[in-house]
Amino acid sequence: MRNLLPFGQSYCWGILLLIFRMNLLETSIEYLKGVGPKRGQLLKKELGLSNYSDLLHFFPFRYVDRSHFHKINGLISATTEVQIVGTLGVIKEQGAGPKKRLTAQFSDETGSVELIWFKGVKWVKDSLKIGSTYVLYGKPSVYQNRFNFPHPELELLNDFKANPINGLQPVYPSTERLSNQGLNGKAIGKLLKNLLPQLQNTLQEYLPDYLIKKYRLKGCREAYNQVHFPANIEELEKAQRRLKFDEFLFLQFELLQQKQLHRETIKGFAFKNLGSYFNDFYKQVLPFTLTGAQQRVLKEIRKDLRQGIHMNRLVQGDVGSGKTIVALMAMLMALDNNFQACLMAPTEILANQHFSSLKELTQPLGVEIALLTGSTKSAERRKIHEQLENGTLKILIGTHALIEDKVKFKNLGLAVVDEQHKFGVAQRASLWKKNSLPPHILVMTATPIPRTLAMSVYGHLDISVIDELPPGRKEIETHHRYDSSRLQVFGFMKQQIELGRQVYVVYPLIEESEKMDYKDLMDGYESIERAFPKPNCQISIVHGRMTAEAKEIEMQRFVKGQTQIMVATTVIEVGVNVPNASIMVIESSERFGLSQLHQLRGRVGRGAEQSYCILMSSYKLSANAKTRLKTMVETNDGFKISEVDMKLRGPGDLMGTRQSGDLNLKLASLVLDGAILEQARLCVQKILNNDPQLALMPHQPLKRKLQEKLADKTQWGKIS
Ligand code: ADP
Ligand code: MG
Repeated sequence: MRNLLPFGQSYCWGILLLIFRMNLLETSIEYLKGVGPKRGQLLKKELGLSNYSDLLHFFPFRYVDRSHFHKINGLISATTEVQIVGTLGVIKEQGAGPKKRLTAQFSDETGSVELIWFKGVKWVKDSLKIGSTYVLYGKPSVYQNRFNFPHPELELLNDFKANPINGLQPVYPSTERLSNQGLNGKAIGKLLKNLLPQLQNTLQEYLPDYLIKKYRLKGCREAYNQVHFPANIEELEKAQRRLKFDEFLFLQFELLQQKQLHRETIKGFAFKNLGSYFNDFYKQVLPFTLTGAQQRVLKEIRKDLRQGIHMNRLVQGDVGSGKTIVALMAMLMALDNNFQACLMAPTEILANQHFSSLKELTQPLGVEIALLTGSTKSAERRKIHEQLENGTLKILIGTHALIEDKVKFKNLGLAVVDEQHKFGVAQRASLWKKNSLPPHILVMTATPIPRTLAMSVYGHLDISVIDELPPGRKEIETHHRYDSSRLQVFGFMKQQIELGRQVYVVYPLIEESEKMDYKDLMDGYESIERAFPKPNCQISIVHGRMTAEAKEIEMQRFVKGQTQIMVATTVIEVGVNVPNASIMVIESSERFGLSQLHQLRGRVGRGAEQSYCILMSSYKLSANAKTRLKTMVETNDGFKISEVDMKLRGPGDLMGTRQSGDLNLKLASLVLDGAILEQARLCVQKILNNDPQLALMPHQPLKRKLQEKLADKTQWGKIS
């Protein structure tokens, strides 16, 4: 990253000015008026604030409007802070020992209320002046049907007038230890009051004028001033928009430069030819017409692969959008150029499934293909190793077993990672070392990623979107049913089974409560056995406590239609494909996350028949769970579901590979500020297209700013 932004031809004074500016922002916080060494240490420890810049970027978490005054008889709710001008009346000390408290009367022309203190009684009493007029600020509470104010802030009206708060007052977070050292939220506000005037010269604009105008941004100095001490709501919003824009802008520079660097520096094998593997498959084997989206994505992949650069591409698409066939055709491109390919899946079941479908599809082409998982027998394993190294084996499907060091390829050209979020960065990165140049990487998601995440967390990857489902799919009908209607649900299952369909019944299995979950699963299995007796109905069961072999046997019985009901835990979540299964019953569905529910639902609706998803739940549902179930009932669109999911869970939970802290977003939110993110990304793309090295004059201040920002950032992993 650093190398991409050399200092170039900057003028000496520019550098000097930069050093001067940087130094001021990097000044240790202890030197700020009102801090000192001891509090400095504490600020660092408690809030991570070690220099001026940290404090400048320590933003209020809310603002209170101090421009309005209330009257005592106008108090109506005890929920928000109010401000009242009034006179302090009688002060009384009551109780003794730990129960000692101080009360005072406070009146305006409309009435009076009681003020009350439980702590610092003596100090408060000594500092208050009976009969004086004060500005009271505090949150009323109700006691015996009357309002009172516990621990209000009081300021003499004269002082208030001499030093009025114009506009909104910032509220900063603090901690108990800091408050004990006199640094509560209010005191931190004072520190910012001391800091900002000193920084006015340092806060020079770094965005070129044309961008400020184009995006109608507030100047950067003004934005910092207003975000800490806003004159009013409108100014605050403008300031926040500018600072959020900048946060996204820096992030996009980092991601897009990483991408640029990748393209420029990491060489990849050039797959020059499309040969008989690909062409024969396309013309003679492919059992259906590709959707427009699949064709487009294949073109994008083809373009990457022929160029001699290294492909690092993410394919995202909804459940059932047909990612597998796209992956296969990319692998055939590798084979046509005398390279091998591999596909890594997160579970054995899924690897098995991929293996059998890909084996069938590639058989007419005479492609050597094998499966390698944890349960591959050692004789078979040895044979695979040998054939991989001598090159007779062309495609290897497997679990993470295939990234072990022992597994050596003659010439691996493409690695596909299915359901990429299930693998760790290190696991994926080890694929890079499987050849002299890193093999091309194609990662596939299980479900769509919210747009803002795609643009941030995955913003350094090339992304292809399969946003179209194969034709002829019927919308899955989704219903929410309470446990009390289980008999009706069983009745419906019976009808469908009589029509020749198959049914999944899925139970949650979450590790901490595994024993109980296991019991639920077994109880459920028994009641299904009673309700669906043999010989008319056969039941499979698959759960995590079974051996891989036993699981596979049960799966196969269901796949072949020998059993009608599959009782399972979420091991069947990913990828399993049984087109004749048309009902998905999810037990305790309120315990599943949205993307998991959507994944599970995606196991049906794969054949020609109308499919159904039935979400069973108890009556007791949290608001969040209600939203999840309602969303599932309302839509089948994985892109919409992923947006709701991010709103409910927050982006951090969805990201997988990177921590939200890595994105360095203090004000901007991936949930709320998508529009600003979009603008910032476009803006950076345009700048880098026109001026990839930021060599043009108007970009110099921005370039310096980026150097400052990115200088001490460790480089992120190379792979998604
Ligand atoms: P996912 O994207 O969830 O991995 P799959 O690749 O498993 O989806 O595809 C789901 C099903 O759709 C498979 O049975 C596959 O053969 C079928 N399929 C894929 N593409 C098409 C298409 N263009 N037309 C018809 N069926 C397709
Ligand atoms: Mg899949």
